[in-house]
Amino acid sequence: MRLVADLGRERVVALVRTIISARRESILANKNGSANIRNGTSREELLSELSNELAALGRAEMNSGVRRVINATGVVIHTNLGRAPLSEKAVKAMTDAAGNSTIEYDIEKGGRGARGPRAVSLLKSLTGAEDALVVNNCAAAALLTLSVFAQGREVIVSRGELVEIGGDFRIPDVLARSGAVLREVGTTNRTHLRDYEDAINDRTAMILKVHPSNYRITGFTKTPATSELTALAHESGLLFYEDAGSGALIDLSPYGIKGEPVIHDIVEAGADVVSFSGDKLLGGPQAGILAGKTDVINKLRKDPFYRALRVDKTITAALEATLAAYSAGEPLDELPALRMLSRSPAEIRKRSENFVTGLSARMGDVPNLRADLSDGISAVGGGASPDASIGTTLIELQDSELSEAQLEMELRLAEIPVIARIESGRVILDLRTVGESEEAELIEILAGIGQRA
Ligand SMILES: *Cc1c(COP(=O)(O)O)cnc(C)c1O
Repeated sequence: MRLVADLGRERVVALVRTIISARRESILANKNGSANIRNGTSREELLSELSNELAALGRAEMNSGVRRVINATGVVIHTNLGRAPLSEKAVKAMTDAAGNSTIEYDIEKGGRGARGPRAVSLLKSLTGAEDALVVNNCAAAALLTLSVFAQGREVIVSRGELVEIGGDFRIPDVLARSGAVLREVGTTNRTHLRDYEDAINDRTAMILKVHPSNYRITGFTKTPATSELTALAHESGLLFYEDAGSGALIDLSPYGIKGEPVIHDIVEAGADVVSFSGDKLLGGPQAGILAGKTDVINKLRKDPFYRALRVDKTITAALEATLAAYSAGEPLDELPALRMLSRSPAEIRKRSENFVTGLSARMGDVPNLRADLSDGISAVGGGASPDASIGTTLIELQDSELSEAQLEMELRLAEIPVIARIESGRVILDLRTVGESEEAELIEILAGIGQRA
């Protein structure tokens, strides 16, 4: 039995016991038995019901593991689906580093070395910062920075930037947990330089600027430029820290991704330290990157908290390979997230047309499944550029026998799960987020669903 091979004998026995005892209890609870032992329920029927239950439980258990999926949602940096897909080189680097590797060993000297110095030097050259440090994620980067530099002291933040980024990252909570005291200034839509100026006192440690990420205030708005805030901070002997969030290393506005600050510009504007994620617009592994002035980064590196937040050898290797794509000048081709974001609507249209042609050829006559093309919009996701408009082509699926919810579920429970979305009664696939090498697999999965007896 396949289940035994997948889950191990003991686990399957435990599941069988769970099912049998649940059935026993429900039989006992229904003394007249109508719901569970219907008149005429044969031993065979009962066994087959229980074996279906076992299969479903076993499947759910296997599906609860981390599995590869095909992301057909059109959301490029999908937090539930693992954000940025890694480049081939990053995956190889991770695999190579997985055994023993030089994470803290200096080959040239033949002894202990710094931790991941190449990632740091790549980060320095790509951001223009004097030094850099890599931790587990951007939340860790913010927590570390605030606790090292602002514990027991005040941090000035604009009311327009007290944001929540995906459920559990809320700026006021992170500040509180790090021991810093939030000093909010300005209003939701407008904060002036003088608001910051007026709030400075002898308990102030820093000015914090937070990228609003997944939301935008539009209309009658104002917020000082980073350069104005760094100038004010430095005149007053304060630190300036910007949490940039998604972390674009290059300008992505030509691809419809607007309002994402480029890290190099923030450093150039005088920020003492800036933090951003590795797995959002940067297109690499989950990591939180801190780039900034030598003395600031050094102090963070020496703090015991850093030791608890640092990243492992495989992440360091993947990050190095990802950053190397930028320094080689090839990020749009090499990094899947940037490749997906930068493909023109016309390219996606062409791919979608070829895909539908390939699908019809594979399915032959009397297909249950119909695929039509329509114009639509892809999303960046990952807390970036909520108003970006990236034109795309949608593949709308309709099955003559399955409802849209059933069809969506068939896709989700396929051998390689396909994650689609439902929009106005149709199951929708957006090839922008499907790898070119995944198209053939996707056609097989769809043909399997469309041709069932
Ligand atoms: C996404 C984001 C974070 C959290 O980053 P993680 O890498 O998910 O921990 C923090 N701050 C901002 C501004 C963000 O956009």
